[in-house]
Amino acid sequence: RAKEAGRGVTCFFEAEMEVRLRERGLLEHDLRGAMAKGEFEINFQPLHACGTRDVTAFETLLRWHHPVRGDVSPAEFIPVAEECGLIVPLGQWVLEQACAAAAAWPQPYTVAVNLSPVQFRRGGLPAQVAEVLARTGLAASRLELEVTEGLLIEDAEGALATMQALKALGVRLALDDFGTGYSSLSYLRRFPFDKLKIDKSFTQAIELDPGARAIVDAILAMGHSLNLRVTAEGVETEAQLAFLRTLDCDEAQGFLLGRPVPADQLHRRLDAEARLERA
Ligand code: C2E
Ligand code: MG
Ligand code: MG
Ligand code: MG
Repeated sequence: RAKEAGRGVTCFFEAEMEVRLRERGLLEHDLRGAMAKGEFEINFQPLHACGTRDVTAFETLLRWHHPVRGDVSPAEFIPVAEECGLIVPLGQWVLEQACAAAAAWPQPYTVAVNLSPVQFRRGGLPAQVAEVLARTGLAASRLELEVTEGLLIEDAEGALATMQALKALGVRLALDDFGTGYSSLSYLRRFPFDKLKIDKSFTQAIELDPGARAIVDAILAMGHSLNLRVTAEGVETEAQLAFLRTLDCDEAQGFLLGRPVPADQLHRRLDAEARLERA
């Protein structure tokens, strides 16, 4: 009987696995067609100085408007795009769109772009970035590339060489989602980062959890002693922002200060601000 029941369970898992594989296959198929069909769009979310609340930069966030499924989360489709290699042309497209947009923004604003480890490992990334900067006319110092810790673990030597080549162009590097992976102090010393972004899970716990507050405090002290700027992600309440200010955090990003918006919406806002300044 146990054996029979076991077989039933196996069958159930196999069936579920099959459904999942099929589902992933469908997603991959749609993803492959999505670029040509113009279903992707980039959004921009502002980063603000913690003290003054002035906007310092905008992060580029990819959106996929699927004709049937509706909006698919990057958390869902980026891993699929990475597995099937589509992230390379897609990431290149995001970089071009972001740099072209930022070249028209007022000078102080920089643009941040998320990069997949797959784009790093492909080789030729620094040359591609240099080419996009030249073509769009964006100064290298106004581009910030965000990477996650996974990149540093898999091929540390390769990642370091590529990061140094990117730094030589004059672009800035940020370590994203800090605190969620195998965050190690040695990474921060070893790799040429300019900025550290504290993951939203810490930001969102600082009000209620003294432990999270202590961790954020320690990350800030460590980051600052290594001359890194520190951004807190996922700031949703005034209380969180107030805490971050008392802890001397440099920048904040989150729904409290601004949600990701489509490029045309941001550009209308920037135009209106420029008109106000001239008036
Ligand atoms: P990320 O780079 O850490 O981006 C921040 C994520 O937090 C974004 O999610 C953003 O919409 C969300 N967020 C911002 N403020 C708040 C807040 O106050 N509360 C909460 N709950 N969330 C907030 P999104 O746009 O869904 O992107 C998820 C992840 O997908 C990104 O995390 C990034 O790792 C990846 N991703 C997005 N666009 C790209 C891209 O162009 N290329 C690559 N390789 N990855 C991307
Ligand atoms: Mg990011
Ligand atoms: Mg993040
Ligand atoms: Mg993230």
